[in-house]
Amino acid sequence: MEKRIFDKLGFETSLLGLGCMRFPQKDGKIDLAETEKLVDACIAGGINYFDTAYVYGDGDSENAVRRTLVERYPRERFYLANKLPMWLLPEGHTPQELLETSLRRTGVSYFDNYLLHNLNQENWDICKKERLVDFIFAKKTAGIVRNAGFSFHDTPEVLNEILHAGDWDFVQLQINYYDWETAQRARGQYEMVTERGIPCIIMEPVRGGALASPHPDVVSLLRSADPEASPASWALRFAGSLPNTAVVLSGMSTMEQVEENLRLFNHFQLLSGEEQELLRQAVAVLEGLALIPCTGCNYCKDCPEDVRISSAFDAYNTCLRFDQMAELQTRIQELHISNCIECGKCEGHCPQHIAIRSELKKILACTEALV
Ligand code: SF4
Ligand code: SF4
Repeated sequence: MEKRIFDKLGFETSLLGLGCMRFPQKDGKIDLAETEKLVDACIAGGINYFDTAYVYGDGDSENAVRRTLVERYPRERFYLANKLPMWLLPEGHTPQELLETSLRRTGVSYFDNYLLHNLNQENWDICKKERLVDFIFAKKTAGIVRNAGFSFHDTPEVLNEILHAGDWDFVQLQINYYDWETAQRARGQYEMVTERGIPCIIMEPVRGGALASPHPDVVSLLRSADPEASPASWALRFAGSLPNTAVVLSGMSTMEQVEENLRLFNHFQLLSGEEQELLRQAVAVLEGLALIPCTGCNYCKDCPEDVRISSAFDAYNTCLRFDQMAELQTRIQELHISNCIECGKCEGHCPQHIAIRSELKKILACTEALV
């Protein structure tokens, strides 16, 4: 297993970590017997980093971590990360109680990494109001957490403010080759964290599974370079090849995924310059598809039939890029796409001059063709 060591963290991590959000399920609950096998395969394969959260499965993930990992392996055999959901504080929870609950559910006396979970502007405002940076660093001083960090989903501007608020030991970022230069501006975030000498834990390296099944043109491009490599393996190698990556989290939920990922990370190959160029070409292919040029400005939002126009176009573009048209079909109702009565009221508001009525019809036709 490829390993990484950073002074800030103070321990050697396996480059591949297990994200504990998608444990195997049976009858709507976590299948503990299957999860035990999965965890055993991870430990046997050299994975030593496990990432759970208070809110994953309403505590089911933390309980499953206790049953399948903590109660079955010596504490020094693994590093455990957990997260504080500050958005529950306005409902009457306290940070101390949330931390104690997480410790109890997972059955440990300390967390190796503890994160302020899902920081964006709104959650960061709660952190400031509740003085959670002071809280998390006080817990570090007390030895209840070894390292203090946060996971992040917002703009580089918000990230900059948070980085200046504490002497962070690590930051967890959403990084993948598609978001690197596009709307998520992952590169800018990675560089800001790296410049400050803080190691990155990477989440969503396969973009929630989307990069495991990109548009067929991208699959062909990747296969032309290596017929044996899966699209997901390219995405994981991109994340692991960044020099400031301590851990690449993968939410593996089947033994097949564990075995494939272990093969990849046991003989980890950094991306060559040529391979990086190939992924840039893959992004160009995705960006060059016949997408609807909606900017999401929402000037068209006052549709009398409550059609969620910008969300519908965004969903269509995402599905086209990642070959997930069947998923769009499940959202037709929620987005009220078939409510359109073709009154045309929206089109006069669109600065992009999008033929909204015919684009909506196109989306319906695409999804109907799947039936
Ligand atoms: S054309 Fe359709 S989407 Fe546009 S405002 Fe009328 S009903 Fe709404
Ligand atoms: S007005 Fe046009 S560009 Fe703006 S959200 Fe609506 S469809 Fe998209």
